[in-house]
Amino acid sequence: MPHVVTQSCVGDGSCVYACPVNCIQPTPDDPAFELAEMLHVDPASCVDCGACISACPVDAIKPHTQLTEAERVFAGINAEYHAVPKARPVMAPMRPRLVVKDRGEALRVAIVGSGPAAMYAAEELLTVPDARVDVYERLDQPFGLVRTGVAPDHRRTRRVSRQMERIRESPRLSLHLGVEVGRDVTHEQLLEGHHAVIYAVGAASDRRLEIPGADLPGVVSATQLVGWYNGHPDHADRAVDLSHRRAVVIGNGNVALDVARVLTQDPDALDDSEIAPAALSALRTSGIEEVVVLARRGAEGSAFTLPELVGLRSTPGVALDVPASELVGTPDGHAKVALLRDLPAPAPGDRRIALRFRRAPLRVLGEGGVAALEVERTTTDASCAVVGTGELERLDAGLIVTSIGYRGLPVGDLPYDAARGIVPNALGRVVDPATAVPREGTYVVGWIKRGPSGFIGTNKGCSQDTVAALIEDYNAGLLPSPPAVVADPAPVGAPGRRERLRALAGQALAGRR
Ligand code: NAP
Repeated sequence: MPHVVTQSCVGDGSCVYACPVNCIQPTPDDPAFELAEMLHVDPASCVDCGACISACPVDAIKPHTQLTEAERVFAGINAEYHAVPKARPVMAPMRPRLVVKDRGEALRVAIVGSGPAAMYAAEELLTVPDARVDVYERLDQPFGLVRTGVAPDHRRTRRVSRQMERIRESPRLSLHLGVEVGRDVTHEQLLEGHHAVIYAVGAASDRRLEIPGADLPGVVSATQLVGWYNGHPDHADRAVDLSHRRAVVIGNGNVALDVARVLTQDPDALDDSEIAPAALSALRTSGIEEVVVLARRGAEGSAFTLPELVGLRSTPGVALDVPASELVGTPDGHAKVALLRDLPAPAPGDRRIALRFRRAPLRVLGEGGVAALEVERTTTDASCAVVGTGELERLDAGLIVTSIGYRGLPVGDLPYDAARGIVPNALGRVVDPATAVPREGTYVVGWIKRGPSGFIGTNKGCSQDTVAALIEDYNAGLLPSPPAVVADPAPVGAPGRRERLRALAGQALAGRR
């Protein structure tokens, strides 16, 4: 009875190391791992031991006999990956254990942010005996995008927070909620109490769509909309007008599909989810009947992943609309295109998600608010660059969501690569690009290190790489022993807590815990 990886795979590789026969591919040491849209069990080698099921943090793996009707397609997707057998070692190669020089003290590291990249970095650091980790989170809730980014109906993916909770439970980890580094405590103060500071601040903003009319009321970014329906304190009070019949989402990555699904599915299906109550009320009275998801490229160049398309196809109450004319000229043998050619028939009363390809946004039309989007039909040239054909179309809409990628913001006085929205770094060491000199004791992980790509689990390897660089520097004596211990004994919300933290961070306390 082979096991099957399904939609909620977060790609952290836990299952790979649990498997006694190395039948889950690609493995984290494989260059294909970072680009893989999910992991795949080889049905011919699976020994049905169930170890992968226990290891998966999001319950993405099932015996093939327990797949739901909608999940059955994943048996084929897993098998297809292994159709051409590749040589592989008996067990997946493990990362070498961290070896830390005994300097007669406990390694102390501050991590700024508490999303997946932060928690994976903490997990790796805590493998060092006696190491202590302080995690600073500006919000009053931890785990970043796991709470405020993952769509509320992706309940299994949200279960990754159980893994984060387990890491948080370490007695050698202190989580400081409601503390903003740069406002409540400075970088220099953190370095007074720690050997190093790791920034795991993610990509808090979004790429801006530079077209006329993009500032009209009724144009929102995916960051704002996702933050609104997930109750992110920066966006929870936003008023989103859902009174119009049609919304357009620009971009067709996984975030665009999340937004389209949340706007179209039956709000009753979100009842028991962690959606913000205000957003759920707004969705209950929404007038939206159709969401158009717009891509500049053809279907074969879609940014959404295959598992997410499978999930979208089977969302109850939502009909996916892709006329054959949208797929003319797309290559055969492409898995996403094959699924788009074979869509289930719409049911009466379904709301529609219309996937439209080869259209670039030109300008937003309207006076005092969005009325329509003007788009230009596109094609791609020999170098795969998108070029306009001059053929224009008008799409009437009352809400336009730009979902063209997240963007990291500058962090304090650290160097910043404005073109990529990242902090320049070499293997996670923050580096001044002008001098190529690393900033002492300062590191990055996650989206602020490599840009907004990959899945939750992609951050695991990324964080492990940075921690390996940090330990190398520690062993080489490049991270001086901190003079102070930064402590934050007060509970969240206690009066004067921030002031106390500032004072404690500023004091050069003798001795260490
Ligand atoms: P993304 O995957 O990078 O997609 C961005 C989309 O915006 C692409 O379709 C891109 O098209 C388009 N775009 C960029 N600039 C544009 C412009 N000026 N005009 C029109 N279209 C433009 O970004 P994302 O959807 O924000 O996702 C970020 C990461 O999070 C991804 O790695 C994603 O897989 C991950 N994520 C995963 C899940 C999940 O696993 N369930 C859920 C959410 C997010 P071009 O290709 O033409 O540039």
